[in-house]
Amino acid sequence: MQKITGMEISPRKIEYMKFLLERGDTVRTSQMASHLGVDPSTATKTINELADAGYVKHTPYRGVSLTDRGEEYAEFLVKRHRILSLMLNHYGLSSEEACQEVGRFEGYVSRYVIDRICSSMGHPTVGVCGLIAHDGCDMPEK
Ligand SMILES: [Zn+2]
Ligand SMILES: [Zn+2]
Repeated sequence: MQKITGMEISPRKIEYMKFLLERGDTVRTSQMASHLGVDPSTATKTINELADAGYVKHTPYRGVSLTDRGEEYAEFLVKRHRILSLMLNHYGLSSEEACQEVGRFEGYVSRYVIDRICSSMGHPTVGVCGLIAHDGCDMPEK
């Protein structure tokens, strides 16, 4: 499997991936659309793009779920969010502010940078909105 750079998935697709990971199950396209506040046709189009790229699979009459690759990617997306929000929290933002602010730019931060920040923070295990896993961390602790 190719190494994740963090730039493979466009920012607007991040929430789809995180939602599928959170649910950990097959989700109907209509549920996705209403959760994300988008048109069912928009959700279908985005899901098809994610399926073409190998991140999700579509089971007829059941819905959408993550592939193994998609699951690995979604875990990275969650970690990226939590590392960045913890960093902003350290710099004076409340948990809520940090989460919200990170939502504006997390999609533009590469995995390389996340691994560096994670390492410099000593691989924290508790973020402001959940636990942080380090299975994929490249950098040894300093
Ligand atoms: Zn958060
Ligand atoms: Zn780490």
